[in-house]
Amino acid sequence: MKIVFGVILSAIIWFGDDIRKNNFARPAFSVFVERDPRLLMIGAQTAGKEKQGKKRRNGNSRKPTGGGLLFHLYKNTKKRAIRFLSHSGMTLFATLFTTEEMNYQNEINIPSDSRTRRTRMTEPIRLLVRENELRPHDFILPLFASDKSAAYRHEISSMPGVYQLGLDNILRESERALEAKLGGIILFGVTDDKDETGSSAHNEFGIIQQSSREIKKRFPELLVATDVCLCEYTSHGHCGIIKEKENGGFEIDNDETVEQLVSEALSHAEAGSDLISPSDMMDGRIGAIRDALDENCFENLPIMSYAAKYASGFYGPFREAAGSSPSFGDRRSHQMDPANSDEAMRVIERDIREGADIIMVKPAMSYLDIVRRAKDEFTIPVAAYQVSGEFSMIKAAATNGWLDEESVMMESLLCIKRAGASIILTYFALDAAKILKQ
Ligand SMILES: [Zn+2]
Repeated sequence: MKIVFGVILSAIIWFGDDIRKNNFARPAFSVFVERDPRLLMIGAQTAGKEKQGKKRRNGNSRKPTGGGLLFHLYKNTKKRAIRFLSHSGMTLFATLFTTEEMNYQNEINIPSDSRTRRTRMTEPIRLLVRENELRPHDFILPLFASDKSAAYRHEISSMPGVYQLGLDNILRESERALEAKLGGIILFGVTDDKDETGSSAHNEFGIIQQSSREIKKRFPELLVATDVCLCEYTSHGHCGIIKEKENGGFEIDNDETVEQLVSEALSHAEAGSDLISPSDMMDGRIGAIRDALDENCFENLPIMSYAAKYASGFYGPFREAAGSSPSFGDRRSHQMDPANSDEAMRVIERDIREGADIIMVKPAMSYLDIVRRAKDEFTIPVAAYQVSGEFSMIKAAATNGWLDEESVMMESLLCIKRAGASIILTYFALDAAKILKQ
């Protein structure tokens, strides 16, 4: 039956041009297309080729006469025979195999009588078919290192359970992170030593540099990532060096900022950072930092780039935590517009080309489509930052008894992983690891 079907279709395609003029092919074709929509494509392709050929032939056509006519007929017949064989071969193949494959897929994907609850009925079967699972080493715990005093401990009012910590307490938290088998910690500096250019960011005795050195001395197995940005160190709270514009406004000087970031990254590397993490969103900083690291014998030190960092309202509580609120203006000139997705792919691609080893999407929950796109379009590890606002929303709702903290926390983390992130920065890291251990 299928062979007959294929031969008829081949003939229609072959004679397509002639028959279509008599409006015969259209209804006949639609019968076949109804059976398998893919044939429409094949039909269109072959008809398109016929037309192209015809145009070319018509372009330099000459009416043959006499002996030339016989030769013309012979040549034309030969050409048509070759076309017939190739078209019918292709169509037969499509009829026999493509429709077969499509029917098979339809049967598998849309079973009319399926009971999908069968694989959800008991915990053992649910475990057996589970596609994603969280592990403690998926998490990186953000820590706010303060230079106030070694014993300093100050709870951030908008982030219950999260503290600014002096060196002794940073070491204590690092030990807990190691015991919980977390993927690592990331250090953010909190200091009053601020100026216009954020120069304390590359002070070798700065709080990040001191903390990194001490942690690596005591717990060499713990991965220590360090945040590279200027907003924690500038008096105005912006991520870069501010330049006044002629019309009285201001802008961040991209290239001068990059120079400062390079010095900061190098001082982190010298202090023992295991993962340089630039979060500033200046152009060209990944390439500049990579070059500087390579020139200074840190060619094996990886960079995690905050590549797709959006200008988000979810950062509110963090700015209190890191003391990095801008005193004027906002960060929309360098952080990304939440409306854009293609732009994120461009920035990620650029950062990979410049030398990023891991790319990050920030925030996580409202940007899971970006995490998934990044995972699908690039083969580099993707990190996602479950930011302060995401953490605080869950905490606030749980405190009010509106949500169950434990289940929502685990669900939010699992869904970030399912979206494609293999690394999750989260303030829940220790709590989640504890639950996973049970
Ligand atoms: Zn910043």
